[in-house]
Amino acid sequence: MDNSEANVLIVTGASRGIGSAAALLASQQGWKVLINYHGDSDAAETVVRLIKSAGGKAVSCKADVASEKDVERLFDFAECELGPVGGLVNNAGTLERQMRLDQMDGARLDRVFSTNVKGSFLCAKQAVLRMSTRYGGIGGSIVNVSSAASRLGSANEYIDYAATKGALDTMTIGLANEVAKEDVRVNAVRPGFIDTEIHARGGEPDRLERIRPFIPLGRAGSAKEVAETIVWLLSDKASYCTGTFIDCSGGR
Ligand code: NAP
Repeated sequence: MDNSEANVLIVTGASRGIGSAAALLASQQGWKVLINYHGDSDAAETVVRLIKSAGGKAVSCKADVASEKDVERLFDFAECELGPVGGLVNNAGTLERQMRLDQMDGARLDRVFSTNVKGSFLCAKQAVLRMSTRYGGIGGSIVNVSSAASRLGSANEYIDYAATKGALDTMTIGLANEVAKEDVRVNAVRPGFIDTEIHARGGEPDRLERIRPFIPLGRAGSAKEVAETIVWLLSDKASYCTGTFIDCSGGR
């Protein structure tokens, strides 16, 4: 973090997993962090406490990223409590039980696309409105948390989830070009097989053990390893990177 004038970072879905690891690391590098969560206020408050006990600054805010009103309120709250927003990690994401595409119903597709695609777009919109020089901001950095699934397709598991990450990849390229001359960089990290609770949501808590033999590095990744790539892309160390992707997926 080198930009001291707009050093507030919003991390969506920061109550656990990759989001909480990114929030903790970003705070160690000078960001003041808004910890967004959807349901688990205790987990979000634990992250806030960890940051504060290490001398950092953080607040939590419940918001459903799929709700336009919630997202506007989230960004207003961050500015009011912490100051001008200079970074966004579009991390909140969800998936549902593993199944073939021909078994998925419309309600499931609405839920997954609302959180992963609509939610990321709504947050990116608010970030641009507040950070872009076009609207009087002083610039900033957006990191989208995509997935290796956008390349692999997730057959027999969750093609819907993989497709939402494909949409996020496309948004990364388009938005990066749209705001490049407005001092806003937009990049993405594509994690692969990371040890978090998300796999249990798909109905297979031991999924990583099954997949491990097919990962060139021979192991699952940690949330901290993904956080390192996110925080680097956010920082001015990545000042010549926009519209780019870092695969953090053990070689697969
Ligand atoms: P996780 O442990 O399941 O955490 C998901 C987080 O998202 C939680 O903090 C949850 O908040 C929040 N969230 C869910 N729906 C939300 C909504 N509508 N509004 C606001 N917050 C919401 O997941 P993770 O593994 O850390 O994944 C984080 C991101 O990395 C996701 O985008 C995921 O697709 C991506 N990713 C993960 C992997 C992996 O192997 N783990 C691989 C590739 C990509 P509450 O708990 O408060 O509800």
